[in-house]
Amino acid sequence: MPDCAFCRIAKKEVNAQVIYEDDLCVAFKDLNPQAPFHALVIPRRHVTNLLGATEQDAEILGHLLLVCNGVAKGAGVAGSGFRVVTNSNADAGQSVDHIHFHVLGGRQMGWPPG
Ligand code: 5GP
Ligand code: ZN
Repeated sequence: MPDCAFCRIAKKEVNAQVIYEDDLCVAFKDLNPQAPFHALVIPRRHVTNLLGATEQDAEILGHLLLVCNGVAKGAGVAGSGFRVVTNSNADAGQSVDHIHFHVLGGRQMGWPPG
């Protein structure tokens, strides 16, 4: 999607602090971090959010979660604890319409989330 901010990051048309990438996905630091460690994991292929995913995306969704696992370990926040979040649509606060998993860690998290 030409106008999608995260497609543009995936295509290196827009700079981001990339911490991991492979053929299927990119992980990069969030521009406005909500925790000492805050990264986003996205598929290279444009999917709007979890509601846009189908059975065909089962493998990539699993892969994205495993990359979240690796990113948390790599950041040193896995042992102390981390949170993976994906927001879908307005009430959840989705602001970028390209599916992304937030990986947050390095501080005590509250529950329920705001
Ligand atoms: P959402 O609110 O859709 O769940 O999360 C979008 C996230 O993307 C926000 O945490 C926001 O800070 C981050 N973000 C938005 N635009 C950019 C960008 O251009 N670069 C980076 N690195 N993060 C972005
Ligand atoms: Zn996109």
